[in-house]
Amino acid sequence: MVEKRDILSLSLEEIQQAVQEWGQPHYRAQQILQWLHRGVKSFDDMTDLPKALRELLAERFYIVKLQMLDKRTSSAGDATKYLFLLQDRNIIESVVMRYKYGNSLCLSTQVGCRMGCKFCASTIGGLVRNLSAGEMLAQVIEVNDDLEKVGERRVGNVVLMGIGEPLDNYDNTVKFIKMIHYPMGLNMSYRRITLSTCGLVPRMMDLAEEGLPITLSISLHAPNDELRKLIMPVASAYSIDDILKASRYYFKKTGRRVTFEYALISDLNDREKDAIELARRLKGFPCHVNIIPLNNVRGLAYKRSSQAAVERFVSVLKSQGIAVTKRRELGLDIEGACGQLRRSYLERVEARQDER
Ligand code: SAH
Repeated sequence: MVEKRDILSLSLEEIQQAVQEWGQPHYRAQQILQWLHRGVKSFDDMTDLPKALRELLAERFYIVKLQMLDKRTSSAGDATKYLFLLQDRNIIESVVMRYKYGNSLCLSTQVGCRMGCKFCASTIGGLVRNLSAGEMLAQVIEVNDDLEKVGERRVGNVVLMGIGEPLDNYDNTVKFIKMIHYPMGLNMSYRRITLSTCGLVPRMMDLAEEGLPITLSISLHAPNDELRKLIMPVASAYSIDDILKASRYYFKKTGRRVTFEYALISDLNDREKDAIELARRLKGFPCHVNIIPLNNVRGLAYKRSSQAAVERFVSVLKSQGIAVTKRRELGLDIEGACGQLRRSYLERVEARQDER
């Protein structure tokens, strides 16, 4: 017996190939994909397909499912965090952030992460495995279903900023991005998609070659390599100069300015001289800086900067003509920072196992 494949991970071309092999007309692939991306959970519900085709599909494929384990909304109502169980019992999380302009979904691209950033909860247990394109898509579909149930707007923006390093799972991530852009599916404009990376330079160059006009966001968090190496092991592989070169190339290829993320950590990277050095490096560069006050993570040593230090940092950048915004903080009381809810769930499970 052939092993069944997850059909949600297939591109339109791959579905077309399958239906063609079965002697079915081309347009069937579009119908199938439309049902799938709309969130249908069973081939039997694809009512405009001939019964024989539905049976063939069910013999060869399955539709990947996520089970909602937990859902928490912040007291301010501005963020909802979902904890999902995958079919192999791994756990991931996705967060809806509610902005004036619509709902943004922050989703996971891996189970765990192997980048080892010292301030990040996702990295604590290392990388377990990559998510498939279908598992990324399923996060959007499940959240859309849930939002629709309560009459809320569907997901309007997608940010790849949840658990994992998207460029460390390059092929699946790019496939997913192309899939949510399908006009017969979710029809999401590339401009509404943001990919965040810790700066895997060769993959940033590959992404530039794809020419997709998505926003590339780079987690910089330090004005020089020396400081960056203290908190981000990836800094030993790629220098800030390399990152800037790749960012400029990305801008040239896509016309999109990159964003630099900078999480302020008390007395580490939030000093006035850090702001001055950062401004000097980025002056005239086609970019935007996004300041994030660090979310304190239980068990990790770093602490967030004081409000005064945040204000000082922002005003130095502004005075140097750098385009800078402070990220609005959402969902602090639901362990909003990436990987935190999964981490605390795993800790609870481990504690229960210890008790036995
Ligand atoms: N691996 C990718 C995407 C996931 S992390 C990346 O590194 O960009 C998404 C963003 O959250 C990154 O900018 C990351 O550095 C930041 N982040 C991680 N832990 C954080 C914390 N405790 N507080 C604030 N930001 C954090």
